[in-house]
Amino acid sequence: MSTPMGPLGSGLGGGVELTLSNIATEMLRRGYKLEIVAPQGSISNSLPIREIPGELIQIPAQNQSRSDPILLHKNSVLANMWDYARQVQSDYDLIVNFAYDWLPLYLTPFFNCPIAHLISMGSLTDVMDEIIEQVAINFPASIGVHSQTQAATFTFAERCICLLNGMDLSIYQFCQEPTQSLAWVGRIAPEKGLEDAVAAAEMTGIKLKIFGLKQDVAYWEKICQEYPNAAIEYVGFLPTLELQKELGKCQALLVTPRWIEAFGNVAIEALACGVPLIAYRRGGLTEIVQEGKTGFLVEPDSVQGLVEAIKHLDNIDRQTCRQQAETLYSLEAMGDRTEEWFKEILRKKILKS
Ligand code: UDP
Repeated sequence: MSTPMGPLGSGLGGGVELTLSNIATEMLRRGYKLEIVAPQGSISNSLPIREIPGELIQIPAQNQSRSDPILLHKNSVLANMWDYARQVQSDYDLIVNFAYDWLPLYLTPFFNCPIAHLISMGSLTDVMDEIIEQVAINFPASIGVHSQTQAATFTFAERCICLLNGMDLSIYQFCQEPTQSLAWVGRIAPEKGLEDAVAAAEMTGIKLKIFGLKQDVAYWEKICQEYPNAAIEYVGFLPTLELQKELGKCQALLVTPRWIEAFGNVAIEALACGVPLIAYRRGGLTEIVQEGKTGFLVEPDSVQGLVEAIKHLDNIDRQTCRQQAETLYSLEAMGDRTEEWFKEILRKKILKS
C-alpha cells in the first residue's frame, strides 16, 4: 500500500517511493507474490501495480501543527486504496503499509489480514502519535521505522522495529574522480533546509547542483532571491538511473534538514556512488554518517559548519563510502531485515489466533 501523496514516480511521495519499489523488487526476487496498490498515474519498471483513482492528499504531514486534526477529501485516494485492500485481503498473507497516514493505522483492527506499517517520519502530530502507539501496543512488532533516532521521537520507541533502508547498489556507479561541485538532493520544501546549502555554496564559491521536485515553489523562489550570487544549478527531478550518474560526479552531498529526518534515502544513494556526506547532526543522518570516514556531521543549522566541513573533504576516501553502502544498505541486507520483520508479524498473528 503506497503513499497517497502522489503517484509512484512523481516524487511527491519523497523517499517512500523508492523504498517501496526497492522492497517490492527484493520480495519478488525472493519468490513472494505481491501487488502494489498506488494512486492512478503511478509508473514503475516491471512491478505489478494496481492503480487507484481519487483525490491525492493535499497537506503534507510535515506542514501540520501538533494539534491539527485528520482531514479526508471527498473521493480520497487513500480511502479508495484501503477500500480495495479490504476487498482483496483474503488473497494475501500480509499487507504492508508505506503511508504515514491515520486511516490505515486506524483500520488495522478491522482487517483480518495482518498489516505491517513502515513509518517514514518521526513524531509530527498528536493524533498520529496516538494511533501509531495504539497499533504498536495491540499489534506487537507491526510498527517498523528506519532509524533509532526516528523511533526515539515517539514515547514508545522500544515497540518499534528498526529496519534502516537499502538500495539496489548495482544501479549506483562508483565514481572516484568528482568534478568541482557539491550536490543537494531532495524535495524542495522548507523542512529540507535547502537555503543553508545554497548559503554554503555562496560562501565557498563552489557550484551546488540541486536535484529534486519543487514541492514548494514559493520557497524555491525566495531562496533564489535571497542568494543571487550563489553558483547554483537546478538540474530537475531525475529518475534514479540519471540521478546517480550526476550525483556521483559531485564532491559531496550536503544534507541540511530542519526536521528530524527519519532516515534520508539520499544519503545512502550518495554513499553508493562514493560521494561523502556533509550532514546536520539530526535524525537518521546521525546513524548513517561515519564521522571523518564517510563524511562529517555538522552542528545543525550552522552554515559555517558546512563550510568548514567542505574544506576537509580531501580526508575522505570515496571507496570507504561505497563500502559502507555495500555492508549496511544493500537490497539483500534490507531484504533480510524486512523479511524477518514480516515473519515476526505473522508469527505473532498465529500466536494470537
Ligand atoms: N529523488 C529522485 N530524483 C531526484 C531527487 C530525489 O528520485 O532528482 C528521490 C531520491 O532518490 C530519494 C527521494 O527522492 O529516494 C527523497 O527521499 P528522502 O528519504 O531523502 O527524503 P523525503 O523526501 O522522504 O523526506
